[in-house]
Amino acid sequence: MASKQEQSIDAGSLPDAIRNYVGGEWIESRGDESHSVVNPATNDELGQVPFSTAEDVDLAVQTAVEAFDNWRRTPPVDRVQYLFDLKYELEGRQEDIAQALTREHGKTLAEARGEIRRGIENVEVAAGIPNMLREQSGLVEDVARDMDEYAVRQPLGVFGAITPFNFPAMIPLWFLPYAVATGNTFILKPSEKVPLSSQIIYEAIDAVDFPDGVVNLVNGSAETVNALLEHPDVEGISFVGSSHVAKYVYETASQHGKRVQAQGGAKNYAVVTESAELESIIPNIVGSVYGNAGQRCLANDVIIGVEGVYDNLKAELVEATEDLAVGSGLDEMTDVGPVITPDSRERILDVIDEAVDEGAEVVVDGRDYEHPELDGIFVGPTLLEGVTSDMDIAQNEIFGPVLCLAKVTDLDEAIEMVNSTRYGNASSIYTEHGSEARKYRYEVDAGNIGVNVGVCAPMGFFHFGGRKESFFGDLHAQGEDAVNFYTDKTIQIERWYS
Ligand code: NAD
Repeated sequence: MASKQEQSIDAGSLPDAIRNYVGGEWIESRGDESHSVVNPATNDELGQVPFSTAEDVDLAVQTAVEAFDNWRRTPPVDRVQYLFDLKYELEGRQEDIAQALTREHGKTLAEARGEIRRGIENVEVAAGIPNMLREQSGLVEDVARDMDEYAVRQPLGVFGAITPFNFPAMIPLWFLPYAVATGNTFILKPSEKVPLSSQIIYEAIDAVDFPDGVVNLVNGSAETVNALLEHPDVEGISFVGSSHVAKYVYETASQHGKRVQAQGGAKNYAVVTESAELESIIPNIVGSVYGNAGQRCLANDVIIGVEGVYDNLKAELVEATEDLAVGSGLDEMTDVGPVITPDSRERILDVIDEAVDEGAEVVVDGRDYEHPELDGIFVGPTLLEGVTSDMDIAQNEIFGPVLCLAKVTDLDEAIEMVNSTRYGNASSIYTEHGSEARKYRYEVDAGNIGVNVGVCAPMGFFHFGGRKESFFGDLHAQGEDAVNFYTDKTIQIERWYS
């Protein structure tokens, strides 16, 4: 039963079943295992996701292989017409997708609406593929007398994408539009925790009427992933998730001869210097740490204050943290939704307790938070101070609504702390001094750097950075990197005698 608060809000319609989409048809998995999908704000079951087998994956791959020959011959200018249609089909379903996202993941509706917007942005960028392919051909005339040379970009075949729970609509769209616009065929394996928004995205794909087998969807978990990684007819894998799975996916798919791009977890720091405009940056920091209930690979969850600004920074952050409203993401008043599973909640609470054992102090305590009406998986916003780089909480991802404060004497000490982790996804500096910003950009080892920006998420026409254990591979998601990842270059050398 939906709770009183849930019932009072128009929650939009959800798909009536969770199915695979193969060869232009909605089909059932041949396996008999399934898993319950639960609304983390209420504990209500939203559906059962099938755990597809190797046989299901093989059917999808063979269908995608068959579709490839005709699709690669379809001129890029014709291929992208499907993306123009997809943009409009997705836009027509934006609110349904946002509602599904909020119910399956727990994020607020505002966050869900922002997420689908960022996904659609990648469809828009990929619609420019004919131009992106042209820009990279690089014709050189007269490499020898009467001889010209240029590169032709060609698609490779079937690509698979395996995606995480925290951005169920946006992350599949980091890959799908580029893979198909460059002439490949595609199979998505979304997170089994949040399969509903993909169902709606594929309803949009179905409405666009891509040629059968070009765009496919297979639900499932590790067994389904392994079948994709090991399948001889899959040419490449795009992955986003935790670092240990990213590394496993990178190694396994590579051993099976595939191209791989595997984005992993993160531990992101932000530094606040004495020149920062405190009043302006507090909402920015709070959004970065507590947005998406902290379940964001770009969250800067360790905030380092330089001595002269630390006390004021702490006072402002404590006040802002205490003001946050926790609840269902469907309630427009909510700032922080639930976390994804009871296991996740337990892990977050353990991480906080361990930090306290190691010497950190809890300044705002959300550990015992209980919602007055909802039986959801909540952790109240929590702020710790006295965090140092030797603590587990400073080195490992929290993935929950927890802000860690650290104090340093100067920017050099701050940068040393920022670079102390094994991750390199993102980092931000809050400053009004250009020279501090430049030093930071230059010396910090992270793929995405923000200056007075707490969530430094690149637009679709730039690649999504990531270094160290936050990324395995060389070509990243989005933009020009995506074109390079999904194509190979044939060198054409020509001489004509007549
Ligand atoms: P996860 O690694 O548990 O799962 C990701 C995908 O891998 C899912 O589709 C899942 O079914 C599959 N999977 C899980 N375990 C597997 C196994 N043992 N073998 C094969 N496949 C397996 O990640 P998650 O909890 O869904 O997502 C959160 C993580 O993703 C965080 O670490 C976060 O930082 C990271 N993330 C990174 C980025 C980035 O751009 N670097 C973006 C978003 C999320």
